[in-house]
Amino acid sequence: MLSRKDLLLFERKFSDINIIATSMILIYYLLFIMFGNLYLVDEIYTAAGFVAVVLVDFIFVHFLNSYNDNLKKVLKYIMLLLLGWTALLTGSMLYSTIIAMSFYFSVSFQSLFLFDITEPYSRIWAVVFTCSPVSLIFFIGMICNNQSNFMIFIIVITLCAVSAVVYNITCRLSEFALMFFNKINSLNGIAAVSKEESDSIKIQKNKLEQINEQLSIERFKFKQANEIILKNNEEIKIQNTIVNAAAKALDLKKLLEYLTEATMVSMKLDFVSFLILTDEEGEERFEYSSRYTKASSVAKSNLERMETRSFAEAYVKNGAIVEISRDANQNIDELSGTNINSMNITPAVINENSMGLYMLGSINENAFLNNEAFLKSLFNHISLAINNAILYSRMRTMAVKDGLTGIYNRRYFNSIYQSIIQRCIRNQSPLTIILFDIDKFKGINDTYGHIFGDEVIRYCGQTALRYGRKYNGLPVRYGGEEFIIVFPKKSTAETESIMQELHTEIKTHVFHMEEKNIGINISIGIASYPENCRNTEELLNAADNAMYASKKNGRGRITIYNKDIMA
Ligand code: GH3
Ligand code: MG
Ligand code: MG
Repeated sequence: MLSRKDLLLFERKFSDINIIATSMILIYYLLFIMFGNLYLVDEIYTAAGFVAVVLVDFIFVHFLNSYNDNLKKVLKYIMLLLLGWTALLTGSMLYSTIIAMSFYFSVSFQSLFLFDITEPYSRIWAVVFTCSPVSLIFFIGMICNNQSNFMIFIIVITLCAVSAVVYNITCRLSEFALMFFNKINSLNGIAAVSKEESDSIKIQKNKLEQINEQLSIERFKFKQANEIILKNNEEIKIQNTIVNAAAKALDLKKLLEYLTEATMVSMKLDFVSFLILTDEEGEERFEYSSRYTKASSVAKSNLERMETRSFAEAYVKNGAIVEISRDANQNIDELSGTNINSMNITPAVINENSMGLYMLGSINENAFLNNEAFLKSLFNHISLAINNAILYSRMRTMAVKDGLTGIYNRRYFNSIYQSIIQRCIRNQSPLTIILFDIDKFKGINDTYGHIFGDEVIRYCGQTALRYGRKYNGLPVRYGGEEFIIVFPKKSTAETESIMQELHTEIKTHVFHMEEKNIGINISIGIASYPENCRNTEELLNAADNAMYASKKNGRGRITIYNKDIMA
C-alpha cells in the first residue's frame, strides 16, 4: 500500500513531464508557423488549449494540493473528457488527433496515481477512471455517426482490450511503485536510523565532554586537596621534630640550641636565630642560639649583628611580625650584605617577664609567604617550651637562693663547697672565706620590729652580692643574720682590704625609720687556705672562729684567723 504522499510524488512528476511535453509541442507548432504552412493555425489553437489545461493541472497538483482529492478527481475526469472529445473532433487532422491522444494517455497515466494502484480494488477504479472518458466519447461519437452494430462491437472489444492492457500496465506500475518506494523508504529508514544514531552519538559525546570536564574539575580539586594534605603532613612532621627537640632539655641555653637546630633542619632553612630576654626579679638575662647553613655562612658576620640584646629589644617593643623578602628595588637593612633572600622576624611574649624574638631566614625568595597560621602555631610550641625552661630555671633558683636577700642559701653553699675546695687544691690556688654577723641584731628586731630587721638583712645580703660580683666572690646567706663570701684565688691581705671597704660601707649606712636614723655594725672573720689554715676541712670553722673573736673583742671589727685565736 502506498501512502498519499508517495502517490502525490508520482502525480507531480507526471505533471512536470506533461508541462515540458506540451511546451515542446507548442514550440514545434510555432516553428511550423514561422517556417512552414499556415493551415496548421487551428492545430496551434488546439495545442495552446492543451497547454492551458495541463498548466491548470500543474498548478493544481503542485500548489493546491491541500484541496479535496475528489475535486481533483472530478477536474481530471473533465480534462480526460475534453481531451477525448478533442481527439474525436480533430479526427480529420492527423497531428491534432495524435497530440490529443498522446495527451489523453499522458494525463490518464498521471490520473492513475489519484488511486492507490497497489490495492487491487483501487486499481480497478483507476482503470475505469482513465479508460471510461475516451470510451464514453467514442460511444457518443459512434451513436451520433450511426455506426453499425458490428463496428460498435469491434470498438467495445478494442476498448475492453485496451482496458485490459491498461490494467496490466497498472499492475506493472504498482509493482514498480512499490519497489521504488520500498527502496526510497528503506534508504530514508537507514538515513533516519543513521541520523538517530548520529544524534545519539552527539548526545553521548556531549555527555562525555561534560563528564570529562567534571572529571578535570574533580582532578584539580583532588590535586589541591592532595597538596594541602602533603603540606599539612609536612607541617605536622616539622612540629613533631620541634616538639621532640623541646622535650630534650630543660636548661634554657641547651633548649635553644636544640630548637634552632631542629627548626633549621626540619624546615630546610638557611638561618635560624632565637633570642630570649628575661627579667627575673630584677635580674635581666639575654640568651640566644643561632644556626647557619653553609649557604648562609658567608652571611654569618652580617647576621650576627642581629643577635644582640638591643636588636631583640627594638623588635620586641615594636611587637609586629616582620616579613622581609629581597626585591631588586628594595634595600633592606636586615638583609644587606647577606645572601639571605627572605626572612621572618616574629616577636613573642613568653611570660610576664620574658620575651622572645624568633628569626627564620632562607636563601629562597618569599619562603614564608602564606605560612602565617603554621608559623604562629609553631612559635606557640616554641614559646611554650621556652616558658617551661624559664619556669624550671626559676624553680631551681628558688631552691638555691634565699628568698629575702636573693643570694645563694646555705644548702646551695653546702652542695658546692667541697667542689670549690677541690678546685683550689687542684689548682694550688688560695681560697679565702669570710663570715660576718650583724651585731646585736636581736636588739634591732626587738627595738624596730622584724620588718625593719628584714630590711637590714636584705641590705646586708645585697651588699655582699655587690662585693661578690665586684671581686669575684660567691656571697651566701649562711644563717639568720650571718653571711659568707667565698673568695677563690684571693690572699688574706687582698680579702682584708675588700672587707674593710665593705665594713666601712655597712657601718656608715644610715637606715631610716619613723624619722629616726639607724646605723648597724657587723663582726667579720677571715680565714684563708693555705695561708693561715692548712686544713681545708677546717676553713669554714676557722672563719667562724675569727668572726667570734671579733664579737668577743668588742664587735664591729675584722679578725684574721690564726691558730691561737681561741686561746
Ligand atoms: P650578736 O651581736 O652576739 O650576734 O647578737 P645578736 O643579737 O645578733 O645575736 P643572736 O644570734 O642571738 O640573734 C640573732 C637574731 O636574729 C635571732 C633571730 O630572731 C633573728 N633573726 C634570724 N633570722 C631573722 C630574719 O630572717 N629576720 C629577722 N627580722 N630576724 C631574724
Ligand atoms: Mg648577730
Ligand atoms: Mg648570729
